[in-house]
Amino acid sequence: MTSLSERISFIEASENPLSADVGLISGGRYLWLFDVGNDPKVTELLNSIDRPKIAVISHFHADHAGGLNGLDAEKIYLGAQTFKHTGRGEIVRGDIYFNDGLPIHIFELPSSHSPGSVGLEAGDFCFLGDGIYSTKKQGRTVYNAGLLQAEIKKLRSLSASRFLLSHDGRFVYPRGEVISSLEEIWSRRIKNEPYIEI
Ligand SMILES: [Zn+2]
Repeated sequence: MTSLSERISFIEASENPLSADVGLISGGRYLWLFDVGNDPKVTELLNSIDRPKIAVISHFHADHAGGLNGLDAEKIYLGAQTFKHTGRGEIVRGDIYFNDGLPIHIFELPSSHSPGSVGLEAGDFCFLGDGIYSTKKQGRTVYNAGLLQAEIKKLRSLSASRFLLSHDGRFVYPRGEVISSLEEIWSRRIKNEPYIEI
């Protein structure tokens, strides 16, 4: 577990088993989790923390959402696509704001990687899961141009200065660096082409 601030820490992703980073935000009342990984040891560790928990799931891929099975959470927030897989939890539409000792903002994140992605701002940190990554289309690595444009607009509207990217050893990036790397990809679009190949 790595601490990012007094209230925010994360459990690092692993490759074997494939399990995404788990964000932990210590609110005044709840322990907020961003993604839950897919590793029984991580689930056990989370359940051993004796606090009421709210889980926010970035997208439906098993390495992010699989750990919901067996997790003791009072409430779950997720995207509509993820709900199709889990059959439970509250679907995030637009933006949801809480104050739990620090400001929490859950939002829909347009994403080429996975439809129905969700992000979470907690104070100065913003968890994005795999949301800014590309996808594969007939063997090509691509961004969906329309989704990328909407994603950049959404990211620009956020106030957190540090963006957190799953499966990335560095994990913490200045927001400007993330947004400009996506803008650079956006600048390569070809008129009337729905996808941008990278
Ligand atoms: Zn994913």
